[in-house]
Amino acid sequence: MKAAYYDKHGSYENIKIGERPEPEIKEDEVLVKVKAFSLNHLDIWVMEGKYPAEIPMPHIFGSDASGVVEKVGKAVKNVKEGDKVIIYPGLSCGICEKCLSGKDNECGIFSVLGVLTDGVSAEYVKVPAVNLFKIPEDLSFEEASTIGITYTTMWHSLVTRSRIKPGDIVLIHGGGSGVGTAGIQIAKMMGATVITTVGDNWKVEKAKEIGADFVINYKEEDFVEKVKKITDRKMCDIVIDHIGEATFNRSIACCKRGGSVVTFGATTGGEPKINLRFIFGKNIDIRGVYMGTKGEVAHYLNFFPDKLKPVIDTVFELDDVKKAYEKLLSRQFFGKIVVRID
Ligand code: ZN
Repeated sequence: MKAAYYDKHGSYENIKIGERPEPEIKEDEVLVKVKAFSLNHLDIWVMEGKYPAEIPMPHIFGSDASGVVEKVGKAVKNVKEGDKVIIYPGLSCGICEKCLSGKDNECGIFSVLGVLTDGVSAEYVKVPAVNLFKIPEDLSFEEASTIGITYTTMWHSLVTRSRIKPGDIVLIHGGGSGVGTAGIQIAKMMGATVITTVGDNWKVEKAKEIGADFVINYKEEDFVEKVKKITDRKMCDIVIDHIGEATFNRSIACCKRGGSVVTFGATTGGEPKINLRFIFGKNIDIRGVYMGTKGEVAHYLNFFPDKLKPVIDTVFELDDVKKAYEKLLSRQFFGKIVVRID
């Protein structure tokens, strides 16, 4: 089968397009013909060797995809050949206490498709049948390929863990990122006032179009001062910070008493200087989030495409996959970057 893969760690420049063997499925697995996959920063961390585990080489990468069921194992009941599906990329054992409680992202062997296993940047990928969900009506393969990691992480962060409610004030950093656009939509749908940050003025109107009430260009304005002004010094109930070192202490400053700060990424580094007095002095919760659960996917898919709608920046062909990662690293995009496979 045709695949994009690399055989050593480093830059996306190492990606090759070539032939790789088609995966063989077990009785509880499904072979999916990939129609589109979307890019995540996780792909880059794994590619550059920053993920704290040994990655098998050569490696087919990528985690989020949509496609058509090509072949099912003997024990598979939930999907059949020809079904159009979204792949939820969280892999877990299915039988431990956490999995049985529906907390599959806390399973002892939880990992993400395309990290320790071959991923979705190929004509075919094999996945456990329990990881497949039917694509909601009226969503294209390109749109469906962007849902997995972004909406699951944001649903878990805002709804499950932070118990967002109507009237909450929510600050979401990186409003133009994949998770940012998903978070703005979810927070808005739940009746919150949404403040977001962007690094380019051309992203301001786009963030407002998808539901942000206030947009701060953090390169031009101090976002803590601006949040103070917008909220009349009440500050935020929930702050979503996937930026890390560059923002985390100031994100805590944006939180009101009893509020919470969520972290699930650290694109600027993972060891921020934190003032503990801010945390205990304001009764603040800090929550770490690693994606979310299959139950959450089954739930939030009901809101597509009316209340939630994927935002796509650009669609590339598989042969241009390097250009897709170049764009991801440039930060000059709004929403998700998708690669189509014919
Ligand atoms: Zn488990």
